[in-house]
Formats: sequence, C-alpha cells, structure tokens
Amino acid sequence: SNLKTIKEGQAEICLTTEKVFYNPVQEFNRDLSIAVLTLFIEDYKAEKLARFEKKQKKLETVQDEESGGNPEPKITILEALSATGLRSIRYAKEIPYATNIIANDLSEQAVETIKHNIEHNQVSRIIETSHDDACMLMYKHKHPSKRFAAIDLDPYGCPSIFLDSAVQSIQDGGLLLVTATDMAVLAGNSPETCYCKYGAVSLKTKCCHEMALRIMLQCIEQHANRYSRYIVPILSISADFYIRVFVKIYSGAVHCKKTTSKLSMVYHCTGCDNLTLQPLGGLKPNPSEKNPNQMKAYLPAAPPIGEYCTNCNQRHHLGGPIWSAPIHDESFVSRVLTYVEENSQLFGTAKRIEGVLSMVREELNDVPLYYTIDKLFGRVHLQTMPMLIMRSAIINAGYKVSYSHASKMSVKTNAPPQLMWDIIRTW
Ligand code: SAM
Repeated sequence: SNLKTIKEGQAEICLTTEKVFYNPVQEFNRDLSIAVLTLFIEDYKAEKLARFEKKQKKLETVQDEESGGNPEPKITILEALSATGLRSIRYAKEIPYATNIIANDLSEQAVETIKHNIEHNQVSRIIETSHDDACMLMYKHKHPSKRFAAIDLDPYGCPSIFLDSAVQSIQDGGLLLVTATDMAVLAGNSPETCYCKYGAVSLKTKCCHEMALRIMLQCIEQHANRYSRYIVPILSISADFYIRVFVKIYSGAVHCKKTTSKLSMVYHCTGCDNLTLQPLGGLKPNPSEKNPNQMKAYLPAAPPIGEYCTNCNQRHHLGGPIWSAPIHDESFVSRVLTYVEENSQLFGTAKRIEGVLSMVREELNDVPLYYTIDKLFGRVHLQTMPMLIMRSAIINAGYKVSYSHASKMSVKTNAPPQLMWDIIRTW
C-alpha cells in the first residue's frame, strides 16, 4: 500500500493516505512553536499562581472563573487544523508540561489518520481527537471555564475566518499561534483581496514581509477588540513561504482604547519608495483625571500626509492599516533563544532557530518596517554601497540601525529618509 512513515522530533507518523496533508518544510515552524509553547506555559503557570495567591491574600470569596479557584491551572492546547496529528503529537511528547491537547480536523480521513498516529506514538492519555469544523469547536469553548490556554491555527492559506472564534475561546493571558501561507495576498500582489481577507490594504514594497506580519497582527487585534480583548505580540516570524505570529490575548476594555495608537496607515512613495506612517490616533493621560487609566483621545499631532512625497514630489500609494507597535517581546525572545541553545539536540532545525532568533533579538523593535539597500540604490541607478558602510554612516549620524530577520538586504533605522538620501548622495 502507499503507507509512509515519517520521523520528526520525537514523533513518528504514518501517512495512510495521500489526501492527508503533510509538509516537511514546516519542521522549522513546528520546532519553533514547541520552544515558544514550552516557555509560554512556564510563564502562564507562574502568572496564574501569582494571581491566585494575590486573591487568597485579599481573602476574596469570588472564585476564579477560569480555573475554578484551583492554583494549578489546567493547560489545554487546541490544534484546530491538525491534518496528520504530527504537530499535536510533537507537542504532547516534547513540551514538558503539555497536560492536555485536542487535535481537531474537519476531514474524516484526517481524523482517522490522527487516531492511528496517537496509538502509534502512545500518547492517547494526553491527546483527544475531535472531528468538527474548527470554528464550531472553538465557539463551544467560549465560556471562561472552557477556554483553551493556547490555540494553534495552521490552515491552508488565510487564517482570518478562524479568528472570530479563536479570540473568544482563549483564556486571559492565553497564547494564539497563527500561520498564514497566502503570501501573494499579504505581500501586495492583490491589495483588494488583502483588504477583503485581512481588513488592510497590502503594498508591493521591499519590506512586504514585515508588512505582512503587521497586517496579520492588526487583523487579530481587530477581532479581539470586538470582545474587549487585545493582543500582546511575543514573536512574529517571516520564513520561507509563510508567516507565523505568536500573540497573547488579554481582556480589558480600557486597553482596547489604546488600539488606534498602535495602528498606522502607510504612505508609499511611487518615486523614491519612501514609507511614511500615519498613526490612526493616539491617547494621552488626561491631567484632570485622578485615575491614570482614564485616557483622553487626541488626533495625531502631525498633519495628514499629503498626496505627494516631500522628498521627490511623486505620488503616494496608501496602504494599511498595519500594527505599528512592537511585534516581539525582546526578553521572551531571549529566553526562547537560550532554551533552544541549551537543548539544541531536541530540535532538527535548532541552528536555523538560533540564527533567526538572534536576528529578531537585535531588531529595532520600536521601528516599524525597513529600507532595502539594493532597492534604494536601484532607484538612483547607482551601484549598491556595502552594507557595513551604510550602517556605520547611520550610526555616525547619531541614529540606530539594525537588520530585520525578514530580509538580508534590510536597513531598519530611526533615521529620517532625508539622511538616507544624503548618505546615498555621498557615495
Ligand atoms: N497543522 C498541520 C501540520 O503542522 O502538519 C497541517 C494542517 S493543514 C495545512 C490544514 C488542515 O485543515 C487540513 O487537514 C484540512 O482538512 C483542515 N481543515 C480545513 N478547513 C477546516 C475547518 N473548517 N475545520 C477544521 N479543519 C479544517
């Protein structure tokens, strides 16, 4: 028969039919997810315990709705689109505290394959299967007592149809892991489709991979905000033909008021490729208010950006909105990196994870988007200057510079565009 066995990490899976999806290239995605989940769960347990102790001290009689007052929180991970079950089986075997996993798929053949693989790997005590539409299953877990600590969404193409249910069925402080593979849409090849699917217009620019991450993040934030919840991105990765974001979801209507200050429209100059961000809004504390949580809305201080670029007088294209706040949590990323370095024997793609996370850790987390050196010089028909010279020129002028993990040619900097052109002119 056409039975194939595949080993990845500590899992061994049998592909009983070719109709069930398996992609070996995503090993990096699965390895990275295991490392992130391991550290996330460590924190999550500690956070829950701290909250419980705080409540105990206050001698509160109100029970914690989510954990039923139990200081040892139940950790349930949902893999909503599981295919062969490989990811769930690896989570079960490789995450130290994976107490309970649900592997779901809509396809009957997939669920049969998952069941077979669970038996084969002897993890039936940890993994349950579910044969349901991912959205329906998540809606059934909306109640705070039934929510998941983590939800993994790894669909074909675009994940946005799963977000409404996902953001509602995650516990406070829980983790949402999302893959998107429809890079053509996200990277500017069809901005109108991107608007339909993600609620933002993509742009064809050299920094389209980071822009894709930021479109994805604003899309999750928008879904979460409808339920007075908001996201805190902990790691956002562009790799191969896909993007992967890891965000924590919290509840809090007051925090949702800060969303507009975390989003921006993007003005892209058709002449010099310059990108200018226009924040959607902002909030500042109201001095007459005693409660610091009471903020007052104000419009962006800068006037709206015009039709023409101030640098080269060419027309702007308008894209966005994008998430313009940080896309990683630096201290979390450092811990994941250390964990992978210390346990590199556990991960087939350890070297690659170390490389990517080292770059992520160096990224200027508060500077959205980037230039690419080849494109800058291409615009003025000059031969590209060595990256090292460009970077030292920026530093000498008193600005910060880094790479982005999303592009080898990237120049991420807080320097104004005028300085970039000055540097190019001196070359
Ligand atoms: N996560 C898997 C891995 O790492 O190997 C791969 C998942 S594969 C890309 C997508 C899966 O989603 C397919 O098995 C498909 O049957 C399933 N699927 C598609 N639509 C679904 C839905 N609405 N609900 C549940 N599963 C669905």
